[in-house]
Amino acid sequence: ALIAEATARGAHVQPIVSPTAGGAPAPRHYDVMVVGAGFAGAVMAERLARESGKRVLVVDRRPHIAGNAFDHEDEAGILIHQYGPHIFHTNSAEIFDYLSRFTEWRPYAHRVLADVNGLLVPMPINRTTLNRLYGLDLDSDEAAAAFLASRAEPVEVVRSSADVVISAVGRELYETFFQGYTRKQWGMDPSELDKSVTARVPTRTNCDDRYFTDQYQAMPAKGFTHMFARMLDHPNIDLLLGVDYAEAREAYPHDHLVFTGPIDEYFGYRFGKLPYRSLRFQHETVDREWVQEVAVINHPAPDTPYTRVTEYKHLTGQSAPRSSITYEYPSAEGDPYYPIPRAENQALFKRYEALALAQADVTFVGRLATYRYYNMDQVVGQALAAHRRLAARWAAAGEA
Ligand code: FAD
Ligand code: UDP
Repeated sequence: ALIAEATARGAHVQPIVSPTAGGAPAPRHYDVMVVGAGFAGAVMAERLARESGKRVLVVDRRPHIAGNAFDHEDEAGILIHQYGPHIFHTNSAEIFDYLSRFTEWRPYAHRVLADVNGLLVPMPINRTTLNRLYGLDLDSDEAAAAFLASRAEPVEVVRSSADVVISAVGRELYETFFQGYTRKQWGMDPSELDKSVTARVPTRTNCDDRYFTDQYQAMPAKGFTHMFARMLDHPNIDLLLGVDYAEAREAYPHDHLVFTGPIDEYFGYRFGKLPYRSLRFQHETVDREWVQEVAVINHPAPDTPYTRVTEYKHLTGQSAPRSSITYEYPSAEGDPYYPIPRAENQALFKRYEALALAQADVTFVGRLATYRYYNMDQVVGQALAAHRRLAARWAAAGEA
């Protein structure tokens, strides 16, 4: 049976397709069904409804909108992120301006410390990290660069996530900051992962201790879920939460499908499962005003079972006598959170992608459907582009 949740927890969207005491609602015809209410699905739905005038049904198997960016107030009144810390950053004015239609922002520059045997040092590695770790007094970029150069091990062709780091900072810093963390996070050694994974984290010779250097860095003032609620608040958009695509597919006739779930699931795993890495989140509220001095502390040590701890009040600017934190425990089982960047996985994805390209009436968008380790802004950019292509195609066919 189709069950639409009457209230999305933390959301202010009224689901329009509602179950009634007297039975399921009469099926309505939609121009587009969008599977997934995360960034990919919400941007597609918003553009299709507002820009293309399409009637859209958004379906998500979870009982809430916002996908992995879902946040909500916990019992202590602190806005926490159900699926781990999400920090918005982008260099794209177009993407920032687009999202700014649906939210105000709270300026926030993300800072991360790494716990090395109890010593807290900036991550990404910067000059302060080196000085604190080795008791040095490197006082210029040149001095820090020379120090790193003396430790770096040349790698002929940088292929893996181990090569990237070892060639930049040498084996000792690699082992201290990257090897243990990566083995925990991905369940494999950095030498087995594509270089793009650890290349996300730069090495600095200055004292800039921000995690990101993007031009725009901010958090949605009332949270991600609130922003999504505004995106989806349109008379042409109906929302069906707590319902799987498999159930909704036949019940709600539609001309076009936008699919943002895992691509291998869509095709019934016919070539085998695409590997995704999962996490278990342990959310806690503690009876202290503050737990740690920054929003995120990374724990690279192999014998600490979690990878990082997030304290939300740093992100939200809230003040409260208590504080809420989340531990992240990597796991092979559970919801698919991370596509695993490796050549063999990409090859398997390409086989699914070939099937996807042959389906003119389905658009695949998002981190799971295109098997790309994308940040939120990249998914927004991808969805805006996918909508533009679809609108152009409909216009050419005289449909729009
Ligand atoms: P999702 O958010 O996963 O949405 C897909 C939705 O589809 C889900 O809600 C799912 O329930 C639904 N769905 C799937 N299959 C079906 C089906 N068959 N039927 C019905 N519904 C279905 N990015 C940043 O920019 N900054 C960060 O700090 C950051 N931190 C992150 C931390 C973690 C722990 C994780 C996992 C990701 C992080 N990201 C971050 C990445 C960010 O989460 C993604 O880029 C973004 O959420 C992807 O959006 P999406 O719509 O593609 O996928
Ligand atoms: N990484 C690491 N140590 C750290 C931070 C990152 O080894 O302290 C590696 C790890 O493999 C991680 C990758 O770099 O998965 C990318 O880090 P990022 O912080 O971008 O990961 P995300 O926020 O996407 O989980």
